[in-house]
Amino acid sequence: MEDERFDAIVVGAGPAGITAAKELAAAGLSVVVLERGQFPGAKNVSGGILYRQPTEEMCPGFEAEAPLERPIIEQRYLMLTEDAMLGGTYRSMRFAEPPYNAYSVLRSEFDKWYATKAEEAGAEVFPEFTVTDLLWEDGKVVGVTTGEPDGELQAHVVVLADGANSLLAQKAGLHKEWKPIEQALVAKELISLPAEKIEDRFALPTGMGTALEIFGESTWGLLGYGFIYTNKESLSIGTGGLLEDLIESGKNVNDMLDRFKQHPAIAPLIAGGETVEYSAHLIPEGGYKHLPRLFADGVVVVGDAAGLVNPLNREGANLAMVSGKLAAQAIIEAKAKGDFSIATLSRYSELLDYSVVIRDLFKIRNTTDFAHERPHLFTEYPHVMSDIAREYLTVDGVPKKDKQKKIAKMLFGLPKKRLLNDAVGAFRSLT
Ligand SMILES: Cc1cc2nc3c(=O)[nH]c(=O)nc-3n(C[C@H](O)[C@H](O)[C@H](O)COP(=O)(O)OP(=O)(O)OC[C@H]3O[C@@H](n4cnc5c(N)ncnc54)[C@H](O)[C@@H]3O)c2cc1C
Repeated sequence: MEDERFDAIVVGAGPAGITAAKELAAAGLSVVVLERGQFPGAKNVSGGILYRQPTEEMCPGFEAEAPLERPIIEQRYLMLTEDAMLGGTYRSMRFAEPPYNAYSVLRSEFDKWYATKAEEAGAEVFPEFTVTDLLWEDGKVVGVTTGEPDGELQAHVVVLADGANSLLAQKAGLHKEWKPIEQALVAKELISLPAEKIEDRFALPTGMGTALEIFGESTWGLLGYGFIYTNKESLSIGTGGLLEDLIESGKNVNDMLDRFKQHPAIAPLIAGGETVEYSAHLIPEGGYKHLPRLFADGVVVVGDAAGLVNPLNREGANLAMVSGKLAAQAIIEAKAKGDFSIATLSRYSELLDYSVVIRDLFKIRNTTDFAHERPHLFTEYPHVMSDIAREYLTVDGVPKKDKQKKIAKMLFGLPKKRLLNDAVGAFRSLT
């Protein structure tokens, strides 16, 4: 009897799923992608910084064709108090020349384009198909269903690329529901503004872009950050925090974003702009210590669905792509052996362990705990730094020596043991 199964069914047409499908199809495997959105990218929410080098590795020559917004030539790290902003900027004209480091993108456009690359490789991409469950046979995943009478499809392997809070990975027994401490919730708006206004307000050369990461008051002092990324004719602005902190503090991300937009240092940047898109989305931030099982009989999980996000360095899409590619590699090897058993699929986990994804997640495995245990980093410290800067910069007839003494008092007024503990903790969690 002819085998009507696909080699692989990919659930979700984000960067992880599309990369997996593209690689599988390019190797001659039969692959179908099921996406619940009206088109790939329709449901995607992202701040929108896409790194060039990892994307080039997945899709050589992408810059010539992909819908990209602005090359990012600058990174600003800022702290807000109620009335002040302080921070640092790194701008390099090397980032303003090819090969660029990163681009801003609108994911709804980028993902739609990226999916055509999987189709060109031979994958079939079906939008408006929501997978509701997995099909099982003798304890092995053998396909998926949309819950409709004719909505069952079978495959040797199912690739779960259904993003944050993957219900299907839970159904596959790979992990339990993420805990609130393992997820961040972020609200984001796309605000349209003419290109010249963006370039004037952010002091950018024509066509170039910047990325702002903003701590402190941007999140009501909770662990998390606000961001503003410049697109061609719009700004992506968002903010959010760990779900556990949001629940405990009773704060909600819609109010947080409204408040962030009204801050005296932020409001002028977005003034006159029109909100054209609003969304809120979860980000899995449990990191290395909370990684799920990545494979089982007949199934692998990739990208956000597997919790592969590096929140410290704002990397999600590129890690999703790498995991999609490595999962594909393991499936291609399984196909060559004619063996899709759990033992063969474990190769995916092995490949991932040696990749930049797991190595980076391992490196920052203690960072969230470090910051979460120290709420004063985002409340008290920005205020002290702001007071010091204001004192130093205010010319009021007080001799500089007296000012220095006052500033030293402000610094030494902080609990010394805690300061030392913070410094040691920061060093340990980042090295
Ligand atoms: C506000 C915000 C800002 C971010 N900023 C950045 C950034 O600047 N840079 C960066 O690299 N990363 C960023 N990220 C993270 C990044 O968006 C993700 O890491 C990345 O999109 C993960 O890709 P993925 O393919 O695993 O999942 P997704 O991109 O979420 O794709 C999952 C897909 O699966 C589909 N799907 C879900 N369930 C089903 C189902 N049952 N059936 C069929 N289809 C389904 C969804 O519609 C979606 O298209 C940000 C995330 C958020 C929320």
